[in-house]
Amino acid sequence: MSEITRRGFVKGAALVAPLAFTRFTVTQTSSAPHYDVVIVGAGHNSLITACYLAKAGFKCLVLEGRPMAGGGTKTAELTLSGFHHDVCSSIHASIQSNPLMRNNELKLGDYGLEYIYPDPIYHIAFPDGSYITKWRDFDRTCEEVAKYSKKDAETWRRMATEADSIREILNEVNFTPIGFGKSLGERLAEHPKGKLWQRRMAMSKWDILHQNFEDERTMVAMMPPFPKLITAPYTGFSAYPSKKEDVPQPKGGSGMIALALSRYFEAHGGEILVNKPVERLIVENGRCVGVECADGSSYRADKAVLSTVHIKQLVNMAPRDLWPEDFIEGVKTFDTGAASFNSHFATTEPLKFPVKGGTVVPVHISNIQSCKRALRFESELALGEFHVEEPVLHIVQCSVADPTRAPAGMHTVRVLCEQAVYDLPDGGPGRWEEIKAEVAEAHLRAVQRIAPNLTDDKILARFSTSPVDIEQMNAAMWHGSCHSGTDGPAQAGAMRPVPGWSQHRMPIPGLYQTGGTTHPGGGVTGGPGRNAAVACGDNSSQLQIQAREDRPGIFKISRSTCRSRFSSANRRACTARRKRSSASSHG
Ligand SMILES: Cc1cc2nc3c(=O)[nH]c(=O)nc-3n(C[C@H](O)[C@H](O)[C@H](O)COP(=O)(O)OP(=O)(O)OC[C@H]3O[C@@H](n4cnc5c(N)ncnc54)[C@H](O)[C@@H]3O)c2cc1C
Repeated sequence: MSEITRRGFVKGAALVAPLAFTRFTVTQTSSAPHYDVVIVGAGHNSLITACYLAKAGFKCLVLEGRPMAGGGTKTAELTLSGFHHDVCSSIHASIQSNPLMRNNELKLGDYGLEYIYPDPIYHIAFPDGSYITKWRDFDRTCEEVAKYSKKDAETWRRMATEADSIREILNEVNFTPIGFGKSLGERLAEHPKGKLWQRRMAMSKWDILHQNFEDERTMVAMMPPFPKLITAPYTGFSAYPSKKEDVPQPKGGSGMIALALSRYFEAHGGEILVNKPVERLIVENGRCVGVECADGSSYRADKAVLSTVHIKQLVNMAPRDLWPEDFIEGVKTFDTGAASFNSHFATTEPLKFPVKGGTVVPVHISNIQSCKRALRFESELALGEFHVEEPVLHIVQCSVADPTRAPAGMHTVRVLCEQAVYDLPDGGPGRWEEIKAEVAEAHLRAVQRIAPNLTDDKILARFSTSPVDIEQMNAAMWHGSCHSGTDGPAQAGAMRPVPGWSQHRMPIPGLYQTGGTTHPGGGVTGGPGRNAAVACGDNSSQLQIQAREDRPGIFKISRSTCRSRFSSANRRACTARRKRSSASSHG
């Protein structure tokens, strides 16, 4: 039975023991416990799939390699007792558009999940003392933009109206498994302005920004949290503001979503075992029938093994000849993106910013100072350069909106840099231990430059994680990357994780994949998790697929349809669908 308790979730103990992967062994597995589905990893995505499968009546087991479930949705007392820091994610924005939340499919509120919507949304402080604060009230944000350019404020308003008219299309594409509905291109073709949007989306964020806005501060205001790949094609949509922008955070911390999902799963008969790093897939007669853990224990899956293991590791968990060459090549060319460096502080005061008529105390702050700095971010990433001068930082102080996160009057401050390099020049990953304190200090100084009120005497304790620590805390964060892999056109939609293998089925029969390496990618979206559940629950009948398109977001898995999904007849149907999907374009 699971040992997971509220206390277990918030304790930061044993965060840094690595998950080791060893060579293949031959094990006697006949006496291993049997389940319908064995799920490897307890991130929010695999927990979501697990919940839907358990709800449908399957006997499911989740094996988590770490001492706590949650993966990138974990909250822990990293500094001092009573200070609850989000180890990775804090913002749960995209998941709000997932039918899981939008239609309240799992009623996670009954299991303790509650969202807080911080206001303001973001504060961007410029070196000359000017600033833009983005508010939940869209008109108020437009007024902020109008301080520097009335024309930009009007454009901001027009662009938000235009973009919001197609956001639903993007949601439908993100929250539908590949091949189970129309592609983005097909959906846009049905929109009155679809052709225009195809062009805009294919453009770069930078092109859209500088074609539309005149004041540099307006452009910078569209860049937080990070100006990633802003000159790359297919980043155009992210240049568009929204009237509904929000930065929801779970009350009590990011880990509350994992806790609620775990509770739901267990209430529906599921089991979670922690400290169970899976090292090997058990394959018999060409089919994945279970897994073996580092401690030698093994677990059999009569219907399916569902993995959230990073695909870079997954291919090492079964003999090479079981993976087709094109799959291996797809994994080799999968770009995991930049690594991250994180510092957490327990403080006696939050960062405060002077604004007209007083001060503002936001939850989210960006220190992007100019377009030039943002553009350099990209070239530094491309060159694999890591600098501590002028770092681009996302500062998050969740306790400002949620007093349960710290003792009365105290605060949790996190400083995130998504521009770190895992394999450092002159020493490789091993050098991180040597330079960690220096990097954390440089980041703190950069924060203090924009928020001088956070003097050293206001800091009670600190805790930093280098890319190496992040990977050790969660093997799915390959080389310290945040989002499992970049989401450019080469690995989006039908290309994720590997062209031809985007429908959650892996090349070894019986093995399924979810998590950030699958569509629609990383972040706390729940998309890969729910999509995997939909894919498992589908019986491949065209009629059912059509019905789902008519009623996007509404689906039901029954034990019988799940069975058929896991059956060999269904596998044949899926193979045909997969071939169709791999032939389809980016979507
Ligand atoms: C510092 C940081 C800040 C971030 N901030 C945000 C944010 O604010 N908003 C946002 O949307 N996203 C954010 N992200 C990204 C987000 O956390 C991830 O994209 C998301 O958590 C991925 O969820 P997942 O369920 O796919 O996998 P994960 O959360 O990575 O979970 C995978 C789980 O599988 C387990 N596992 C892996 N391999 C094995 C194995 N072999 N055996 C057993 N268990 C295994 C891991 O231990 C882990 O628990 C951030 C990431 C980082 C690193």
